[in-house]
Amino acid sequence: MKRPWSLKTKLTGAMIAIVLLTVALISLTANVVIGRQFKAYLSRQQRAHAQSIAANVESQYDGERWDMDSIHGIGMYALSQGYIVKAYDGENRVLWDAEACDMHSCMRVMGQITARMKSQSPQGRFAWQDIPMVRDGSPIGYVSVHSYGPYFLSEEDASFLGTLNAILYSIGALALLLSALAGILWARRISRPIHSAALAVEQIAGGQYTALMKETTGTRELDALTQAVNRLASSILQQENLRKQLTADVAHELRTPLTTLQTHLEAMLLGLWQPTPERLQSNLDEVARVGNIVSDLEKLASADSGAMQLRRAPTRLKRLALDAVGSFEAEIQRKELEVRVSGPEVEAWADPDRITQVLGNLLSNAVKYTPQKGKVSIELAREADSAFLRVRDNGVGIAPQDLPLIFERFYRADPSRNRDTGGSGIGLAIVQTLVQAHGGAVKAESVPGEGSCFEVRLPLGQGSIGDNRS
Ligand code: ADP
Repeated sequence: MKRPWSLKTKLTGAMIAIVLLTVALISLTANVVIGRQFKAYLSRQQRAHAQSIAANVESQYDGERWDMDSIHGIGMYALSQGYIVKAYDGENRVLWDAEACDMHSCMRVMGQITARMKSQSPQGRFAWQDIPMVRDGSPIGYVSVHSYGPYFLSEEDASFLGTLNAILYSIGALALLLSALAGILWARRISRPIHSAALAVEQIAGGQYTALMKETTGTRELDALTQAVNRLASSILQQENLRKQLTADVAHELRTPLTTLQTHLEAMLLGLWQPTPERLQSNLDEVARVGNIVSDLEKLASADSGAMQLRRAPTRLKRLALDAVGSFEAEIQRKELEVRVSGPEVEAWADPDRITQVLGNLLSNAVKYTPQKGKVSIELAREADSAFLRVRDNGVGIAPQDLPLIFERFYRADPSRNRDTGGSGIGLAIVQTLVQAHGGAVKAESVPGEGSCFEVRLPLGQGSIGDNRS
């Protein structure tokens, strides 16, 4: 396949093409429009000049005599200007004839003009023009002016035009050179960040996420591209770290109960331990723990997969909250917690099973991280087009540096403490995935030592939108 052209070549090419086009257009306009005007002006000038020669000769007649010296002067001067003059008196007699006077100069002038005008006006030629002379209303003769028509350039005119053309050509060449230079520089400025973005993306694809782009280009779109690549790299790095941590965490979480089980069972097999009901129960607990981790992982996987099917229906959140509190009855009583469900009944457009799971996870945390005789509450509210569910406790709270991370899977604010509480750090990740699948959002606020509040926002049930009574 043909190798595509580089952006730099294309931009430079485009710039040069634009300048070439502009120069071509200017010269075309100059040639066609200005050239035509100029030629018309020159030919008017030429006619006026012939008239003025005739008028000058005419003025050399005093009514009786012609001033032959002056006529000679006028004729010779006209010759030097490229006009060959013949003057006749009233009786058609030749008064003065440039060719008769100086044939050699006449031939030279005609030769020079023909040579000069060959390229300028090749269809032009020398022609005679008769201009009558009149004094007091009566004809006194005529002047024949022989000149190159419809216009010609004097030596001065030609050299002026030549200089002008040379200047124009130089400007054109300079503009071309400058545009090529500017094009190359400009193209490099634009293509460099794109090139480095492509390289950076290639490095990212190769698993190198730290090669972030540092350039600021001064071009908004290119800066946005650079920033997007940087964001992409850091988000992939974050995901990668999370994945590594997840694998390590899963391995770690599974290893502890499995090791315990293995040593216990070995001891029993070797006859070092009697398989008492207590020991068997303890082993069963370890198996249950492994089972819990696996089921947590399954839940997370199912919540994560795009195939998660939400069976949405108008769902009464207060009823679900009361049910959830009921399912923690034993633990609540054991810790002598004061639990309250407050606020109006709110209907959300949600999958009740999934919301029960969300409530269960939040409530389980609140109960888990609240000390003996603490307070836990679930508040329901409806604001704008959303249903709100806030699970509040006055427990241990979460440190500000942990707060943004608690929704990450396997993240535990205080792993040593959480080992005792039995958490695996998946609960909130599941909450977030489920709530987001509903088109809602979850956020946490907390003051260490004072308590935490988890707020879940869900879309309102269709029947309750616009109904503000409850
Ligand atoms: P776990 O199973 O460890 O509770 P979660 O994903 O539910 O995992 O919670 C993640 C971490 O957030 C917990 O380990 C804990 O440190 C912190 N956390 C969650 N809820 C609360 C809460 N109500 N009070 C204090 N800390 C909490």
